[in-house]
Amino acid sequence: MKRHLNQLAEQHFDVLIIGGGIHGAAVAREAAITGLKTALIEQKDFSHATSANSLKILHGGLRYLQDLDFKSMRASIKSQTEFMRIAPDLVVPLGCIIPTYGYGFRGKLPMRIALFINDLMGWDRNYLLDNGHKRGRGKIISKEEYSQIVAFKGDANINGAALWFDALVQDTERLTITLINNAYEYGACIANYVKAGELNVKNNSVVGVYATDSLAGDKFEIRARNVVNATGPWLDNAFKPLLNSNKKELCLARGLNIVIKKRLFKNYGIGLEGSNSGFNNKSILRGKKRFYFFIPWRGHTMIGTAYKLYNKDPDTFRVKRQDIEDFISEVNLIYPPAELTFKDVTYFHAGLLPVAVKNIKNPYDVKLTKRCEVIEHGKRGGPKGLVSIRSVKYTTAPVVAKQVLKTIDVSSETSEKRQTLYDHSRNHNCAGSHIQVSKDKTGKDIAPDLVAYLKSKYGKYADRIQNYIMEDNSLASWISSEPPLLYAEILHAIREEMSIRLSDVVFRRTGFGNAACPSRSKLEALADIMAIELGWTLKQKSDELKSVFRNYHPLTVPENCWK
Ligand SMILES: Cc1cc2nc3c(=O)[nH]c(=O)nc-3n(C[C@H](O)[C@H](O)[C@H](O)COP(=O)(O)OP(=O)(O)OC[C@H]3O[C@@H](n4cnc5c(N)ncnc54)[C@H](O)[C@@H]3O)c2cc1C
Repeated sequence: MKRHLNQLAEQHFDVLIIGGGIHGAAVAREAAITGLKTALIEQKDFSHATSANSLKILHGGLRYLQDLDFKSMRASIKSQTEFMRIAPDLVVPLGCIIPTYGYGFRGKLPMRIALFINDLMGWDRNYLLDNGHKRGRGKIISKEEYSQIVAFKGDANINGAALWFDALVQDTERLTITLINNAYEYGACIANYVKAGELNVKNNSVVGVYATDSLAGDKFEIRARNVVNATGPWLDNAFKPLLNSNKKELCLARGLNIVIKKRLFKNYGIGLEGSNSGFNNKSILRGKKRFYFFIPWRGHTMIGTAYKLYNKDPDTFRVKRQDIEDFISEVNLIYPPAELTFKDVTYFHAGLLPVAVKNIKNPYDVKLTKRCEVIEHGKRGGPKGLVSIRSVKYTTAPVVAKQVLKTIDVSSETSEKRQTLYDHSRNHNCAGSHIQVSKDKTGKDIAPDLVAYLKSKYGKYADRIQNYIMEDNSLASWISSEPPLLYAEILHAIREEMSIRLSDVVFRRTGFGNAACPSRSKLEALADIMAIELGWTLKQKSDELKSVFRNYHPLTVPENCWK
């Protein structure tokens, strides 16, 4: 994947997508596969914002049942399955458990009925999936079974638990980049570090966007007959220059997950009721408290999500020490055996999401917008050819992408081509099942466990890294065994996945720094390779290291890192 800015400036696109999060990536993939001349630009690095910070659960839709929102439930189930088909190596089933209480709405009987309806609504969820990805039926487990898993009595009213299957994305950043890689394979023209500015509108129709190369500062126009605004929390910021409008589409809340080294629950995602109010008046299951999920992830536990109203600019969003401290207190309240302290937190993931109601007294009493929305501006008196996505969930991106595609106006010639390609779109998945163990240049087999590791991380694109190793087997050495990282992965990230900054490789191509801050010596070794490949000066290398360490602030990072 190469960053060809001249192609962006010279060609005429059917669709230009602004924003390289999961929604931009899913729309670009869908558009490119269906034969549209597609472009995607991202102002920083792909998946650097909200999409990097999700709790990594692809929801099956059970949560929508409490609002009897069957449409969203079905969209979630379809999307979850679609992700499993697109990237089976990166998405695995996850058993989730929440306790049942007493005889009311949260008792065993209503939960049993809810699980039954969930299975009914997901009747086709295992279609075309291999056995490893088939999700079993939900069931009620006894109080004894629950105590064996959770090992904490907690509320005396707990009388058992509901168990169902969702899916876990091991690495949301890699899943996003996988879709972007796939779009590129189908001819999409893609660039990170390019920021969209003003929209070019003629006769009330979109004809292009003025953009700036954030690295060199050059300005140029990208011509496109359709523009998709997939800027997540920047929806309003992107709007002002795009639409010359002051209308605000978004009110935001901060979402925060923490990552801790302690492995609290090994095999399941456990949902425990928090103490903050998450009361939803319209819900038929009036749960007064928000659930926090404890997810086993990379030998760590990820806990989330804690929400708080956020009224400022997305560009100035930072997590404060107090935010983490508050969340730790909440976790210790709901699960005292955790005995968490600030030092236990190895990293945190935080991002911004749209809220449904802005005027609330308690900033923690956030009600998130329930559904993603596709806004066709032409139908609201705005320019034709402009579509915005108000995103709420990572999970539903594939379904939202299909919805967006339906709104796109194409020429009849493209339309015919598009139809032919569309019929085969199911075969365009990114599974690594075809990748075999190969020999390097000296005739030695590449170790099967190395190939398995690459497949689980890169799916279909594992063979690219294998090719580096076949050429030069010294690239099969580990720069770090924990967290795992091969020399070949770094070269691949730079040469084939548009990594420009050290943080691109550390956080979004290899997942090296996503659970905890790696040691300074390992990061320096990685930066040395990038410095050679990209011709950095010593000062540039030092700035890149500082910028990586800054991501962990306010946590304690390795000594001397600021020097
Ligand atoms: C803490 C937390 C936990 C969550 N947990 C889950 C979960 O478990 N499951 C789930 O399904 N969902 C979850 N979500 C929600 C999910 O992460 C988001 O809904 C989703 O990632 C949003 O994706 P997006 O592509 O719309 O936005 P983003 O990922 O934010 O992408 C938007 C991109 O647009 C770019 N951009 C902005 N302006 C411009 C411009 N002018 N020019 C070019 N590019 C621009 C930005 O740089 C950004 O990269 C969670 C969210 C948070 C914050």
